Amino acid sequence: MADGKLIIFSAPSGAGKTTIVHHLLRKFPELSFSISATTRQKRGDEVHGQDYYFITKEEFLHKIAQKDFVEFEEVYSGTFYGTLRSEIERIWSQGKHVIFDIDVIGGLHLKKKFGDQALAIFVQPPSLEVLIERLTGRGTDSAEKLAERFKKADKELKYADQFDIILKNYDLSVACAEAEEMIENFVKN
Ligand code: ADP
Ligand code: 5GP
Repeated sequence: MADGKLIIFSAPSGAGKTTIVHHLLRKFPELSFSISATTRQKRGDEVHGQDYYFITKEEFLHKIAQKDFVEFEEVYSGTFYGTLRSEIERIWSQGKHVIFDIDVIGGLHLKKKFGDQALAIFVQPPSLEVLIERLTGRGTDSAEKLAERFKKADKELKYADQFDIILKNYDLSVACAEAEEMIENFVKN
């Protein structure tokens, strides 16, 4: 497949996109996860080359200069995340479609770039309060990092209407079933 498709999951941190994307990866062997590059520290049991390519800020800036990124963002102050062009090509060359878990602005950039080849899905939590509960409950971020994420989330929730589809993640099993249907429709057409 020279030209596969792109399935973009975006949402504020804590909305549940990683959980939903992992579910879809187990369900659809024709999908492959776009491993982003980031300058943030590894957390929990994350693996380099599986969850992210964990690189230094110098390496990241070098890749920006070489135009290696399709999109990148300073998602949090001093912390960069980006999608490598080589990553999309790697997945397409395996005959698979690419699935992304990226921030709201990055998701909209990709959609703009790839048009109908991409499906941009916004994962919506029931409320900002529930999002805060989920993010706190995940237990992966310091108080300072949590505060930064909440502040950003409030702004990001306002971008929902610019996506192709809004996927409500209230009950996780309902959200996963709806996501499966969206992927089936998009990949087959
Ligand atoms: P994101 O990737 O958007 O930052 P995660 O997938 O890490 O979000 O989910 C944040 C936390 O919320 C995790 O602890 C996850 O298990 C939990 N979670 C996800 N979806 C739901 C849901 N529908 N109901 C309750 N908790 C959820
Ligand atoms: P986390 O630190 O929780 O893994 O990710 C923080 C945020 O960065 C999330 O919203 C995640 O989706 C986003 N993100 C991950 N990879 C990329 C990427 O390649 N580009 C952009 N723009 N955002 C990303």
